Amino acid sequence: MTLPSIMLLLLLPLLFSAPSTSTARDFDFFYFVLQWPGSFCDTKKSCCYPATGKPTADFSIHGLWPNYADGSYPSNCDRQNAYDASQIADLMEILRSHWPSLACPSGDESTFWKHEWQKHGTCSESVLDQHAYFGTALRLRTQINLLQALQDAGIKPDGGLYSSTDISSAIRNSTGFEPKLGCNADGGGNRQLYEVSVCVDAKGERLIECPISSISNCPPRVEFPPF
Ligand code: AMP
Repeated sequence: MTLPSIMLLLLLPLLFSAPSTSTARDFDFFYFVLQWPGSFCDTKKSCCYPATGKPTADFSIHGLWPNYADGSYPSNCDRQNAYDASQIADLMEILRSHWPSLACPSGDESTFWKHEWQKHGTCSESVLDQHAYFGTALRLRTQINLLQALQDAGIKPDGGLYSSTDISSAIRNSTGFEPKLGCNADGGGNRQLYEVSVCVDAKGERLIECPISSISNCPPRVEFPPF
């Protein structure tokens, strides 16, 4: 037997026992992204309510996204760690109310959760398993009452125009940290408050000041539509 073939034989077990997880480097923090459902639904694309009916008019979860301090982020890190509803059976009811899927057609309610787990959750699996990933997002959601924070500052989902700076200040006053605002356009092309992101440490435990400066795509005044 030649030397190269002996080396190959020795290496074979190593090749087949290679870890299935991605080699993505450790992330630095999470963006926890909340969404105003009124702004998801009043776009040209529109929306569909889940089988359980119209969700309550409150901010809902879009996702918990691991991020790097240079602004980039990992995605789809582990195809072997597929979304498994049985691991989060005890969270389903609360997920339905706080992390509703509004995409059309409304069908499998878990499509959105599955997408978020596969794209983002698998990249933080070294810290949060599936149950902890969804549980952490739900815990953060109860910790941050955006609607109340805005209402306390006289900012209501009444279709009015509000200052982006006032929206950020109201959220900072309530959470203690500067948020990142995201806007989209309603069916008529008006810019509106769509998402609010806050930063969370890489353990998913505490809100932190965002390690990178947030460039918002919102104009100085934005609509806050009803839902
Ligand atoms: P991401 O890939 O995590 O950045 O999420 C973007 C995708 O999530 C897009 O395809 C959106 O249409 C979808 N999305 C955002 N909000 C919702 C929602 N409430 N229900 C269902 N899909 C959503």
